[in-house]
Amino acid sequence: MSELSHPMIKDGWFAEVSDTMWPGEAMSLKVNKILYSQRSKYQDVLVFESSNYGNVLVLDGAIQATERDEFSYQEMIAHLALNSHPNPKKVLVIGGGDGGVLREVVKHECVEEAVLCDIDEDVIAVSKKYLPEMSKSYSHPKVRVHIGDGFKFLDDYKNCFDVIITDSSDPEGPAESLFQKPYFVLLMEALTEKGVISTQAESIWLHLNIIKDLKKTCKDVFPVAEYAYCTIPTYPSGQIGFMVCSKDPNADVTKPLRSVDEETERKLYKYYSSDIHKAAFVLPNFAREALQ
Ligand code: SAM
Repeated sequence: MSELSHPMIKDGWFAEVSDTMWPGEAMSLKVNKILYSQRSKYQDVLVFESSNYGNVLVLDGAIQATERDEFSYQEMIAHLALNSHPNPKKVLVIGGGDGGVLREVVKHECVEEAVLCDIDEDVIAVSKKYLPEMSKSYSHPKVRVHIGDGFKFLDDYKNCFDVIITDSSDPEGPAESLFQKPYFVLLMEALTEKGVISTQAESIWLHLNIIKDLKKTCKDVFPVAEYAYCTIPTYPSGQIGFMVCSKDPNADVTKPLRSVDEETERKLYKYYSSDIHKAAFVLPNFAREALQ
């Protein structure tokens, strides 16, 4: 078997083809070599070294993270929620096996405990081996890891977490239940009084209908639910969004409740800032109208 032999790699290029999620288009990355390729209990796990995006984690054919641009997504999904809460102490990450969101969570000194629940221990293991910058916080003293289904895990916790971040894969495969209403009800119940959630919420260029449904579901469950977005070259269409919801009816998640001075901000974050937090909720007209 050659170094580049894989069904999704042709002539040295990986192509992210999905006839259901993004038909007719495919992000391609030039591959230097395959580092890992196995079927886990839940999904196909591929890690390759790319020519200019560093190491790349792919699950069931979909790019999850590249070393070059992951910070944009990880910072935004984490800090939009964490900075919308007055004093987050207990934080839960559902999914997020690469560890990037955990790395962002423990940047907040007020956080006393960060729990991660991912269904697939193989994703955590390969991330520790091939994505060291993303997975470095697994050894942090505030971090606790649970291997299991996020939906089932949540059922055991009521009134417990200040912030819950759902960093899941797309709504096909093991993450399907994490996009449906019963999951959002469990999230609401697992939160403390002023609790905040953020969740991966797809792209306005590809999935306006999914986002519309997701926003409606969130609004049925939470008094406050807003869509924000970031840019990221290696997610389909170069953009991905988040639903940020609060249990506090008086909360305004579009403006950070907590912030740090500019110098600290530059040291801590490569993408997120107080200004980006506010800007992320300002949508182009076509998306704003569709999501109203
Ligand atoms: N940011 C990424 C994206 O949108 O492409 C997601 C990254 S993260 C690696 C996704 C994680 O969700 C994977 O590690 C996968 O194992 C996990 N996952 C999928 N379904 C899950 C479930 N039902 N419960 C817990 N974790 C789940």
